[in-house]
Amino acid sequence: MSFTGTLDKCKACDKTVYFVDLLSVDGITYHKACFRCSHCKGTLAMSSYSSMDGVLYCKPHFEQLFKESGNFSKNFQTSKIFN
Ligand SMILES: [Zn+2]
Ligand SMILES: [Zn+2]
Repeated sequence: MSFTGTLDKCKACDKTVYFVDLLSVDGITYHKACFRCSHCKGTLAMSSYSSMDGVLYCKPHFEQLFKESGNFSKNFQTSKIFN
């Protein structure tokens, strides 16, 4: 039985992925068009991308957003206290 459609859904937009649009990375399915950094919308290479909870980032933005998350949560807590 060969079936050209797929029941896979894109991890990024949660819509059905058709075979022509399918990009599978580490067993996770994306639309080709959805395989881009959610921060800068830059196209990603399969060899260099990062993901967090199914959200894709380019390496620079992943590091910027998550490696510095110590600062982020500090700021967050500070603003909470002052509110
Ligand atoms: Zn998609
Ligand atoms: Zn980016």
